[in-house]
Amino acid sequence: MKKMNKCVSCGEYTLEEKHCEEKTISAHPPKYNPNDRYAKYRRKAKGIADG
Ligand SMILES: [Zn+2]
Repeated sequence: MKKMNKCVSCGEYTLEEKHCEEKTISAHPPKYNPNDRYAKYRRKAKGIADG
């Protein structure tokens, strides 16, 4: 299964690794840990509550 890439130069989606003579990036957003996001939010909320 091929990964969809996106051209950083023109914004076109492509299967090629290069487009407009520029290296393409993955069209899929990088994986992040949602728990980490929540932890950060909760920490902030707690800080406000404590403050
Ligand atoms: Zn392009």
